[in-house]
Amino acid sequence: MTDTNTEDARLILDSVDKFLDQHVRPVARQLEQADEYPEDIVTAMKELGLFGATISQNYGGLGLNASVYSQIVARVSAAWMSISGIFNSHLIMAAAIQRFGSDALKERILPRMATGELRGGIALTEPGCGTDLQAVITRAWRDGDDYIINGTKTWITNSVEGNILAVLVKTDPDVQPAHKGMSLIVAERSAGYTTSKLKKLGYRGVDTGEVVLDHIRVPAENLVGPAEGRGLQQILAGLELGRINVAARGVGVATACLDDSLAYSQVRETFGQPIANHQAIQLKLADMATRVEAAKLLVERAAQAYDRGERCDMEAGMAKLFATEAAVENSMEAMRIHGAYGYSKEYDIERYYRDAPLLAIGEGTNELQRIIIARQLVARNPV
Ligand SMILES: Cc1cc2nc3c(=O)[nH]c(=O)nc-3n(C[C@H](O)[C@H](O)[C@H](O)COP(=O)(O)OP(=O)(O)OC[C@H]3O[C@@H](n4cnc5c(N)ncnc54)[C@H](O)[C@@H]3O)c2cc1C
Repeated sequence: MTDTNTEDARLILDSVDKFLDQHVRPVARQLEQADEYPEDIVTAMKELGLFGATISQNYGGLGLNASVYSQIVARVSAAWMSISGIFNSHLIMAAAIQRFGSDALKERILPRMATGELRGGIALTEPGCGTDLQAVITRAWRDGDDYIINGTKTWITNSVEGNILAVLVKTDPDVQPAHKGMSLIVAERSAGYTTSKLKKLGYRGVDTGEVVLDHIRVPAENLVGPAEGRGLQQILAGLELGRINVAARGVGVATACLDDSLAYSQVRETFGQPIANHQAIQLKLADMATRVEAAKLLVERAAQAYDRGERCDMEAGMAKLFATEAAVENSMEAMRIHGAYGYSKEYDIERYYRDAPLLAIGEGTNELQRIIIARQLVARNPV
């Protein structure tokens, strides 16, 4: 684990900045518009160790804590949000295995995930359900020393270019409450495991796909945890970190909107002066900057609580809700400030505007975050 203020953290963040300047910023606009998977960037990410960022050093990762990691995610997302998707859900999967998997599973999978040889994701959502995960219908059952998995998952990031997934299944579809019949099972690409890429408004370049698991066979030790029936809790525990990460993406996108707008408003002139001198533009810049600072603080607070090992679903929910709405609002304001150029493919504003709404949907919609926050408020303040 690395503290945010240490020399180690500064060196890591500096190397991320260099990677973004060298490998990401020069090609982001072109690759995004072509919806092309950024192979060269992925190669550089492997060299930098990003695929093992939060994986323990015992398994070959960097072992970074959430505070440092969320700063990496914010920096990456300010350059091109899609890149953060390539390692984020991969690391949520790794976190679930590291926390709940058997020693055999950890030793077999985690070192290969840390190098990026295995690139993973989390397969929860199905055509019939996303928020209501207890409604999943993908089934898994024991057959000798194996599990057979059968079902369809959709909107799964890293499923097409990656080669391994943590799949949320029903191992007992009859038990009530339904979560007691749910398990998390690791599936590597094999016969019967097929994927197809979906077309998206934004978050392009990174693959999000449908996954058909047609009676695939995996070893029984791929079950995460010592017993069946813990899958929903395991993945929800991982989603605390996932939500801090999505909040950090919000900080990144909101910051990029602010930085581009600050620069543009000082060079674009109307009525004989830079638009930054007009009070209507100043009000926008002030609100955008205040949102960025508030979002950063909420993310920092949630990440610190996570690093202390505290329950932080409310803190992560607040950070996710505020920072992602900040990204949505700042992207709209950036477009207004840029006028027609904001609408042009020759600037990045239209990309921020297309990328930001995903943040309000993924890792639990912002409606769901409000429900989580309110429930925790009541639970923590009984009368
Ligand atoms: C680009 C992209 C990448 C994704 N990557 C992944 C991935 O890697 N893995 C994965 O498993 N999934 C992934 N998803 C799916 C994502 O997690 C789901 O879209 C999300 O959880 C919402 O589910 P849904 O789309 O089925 O919406 P629904 O659950 O159908 O919700 C529809 C609307 O109803 C609201 N709603 C639902 N229930 C309630 C309630 N009880 N009270 C109030 N409002 C409610 C929701 O907030 C939303 O506004 C991805 C989605 C996108 C767009």
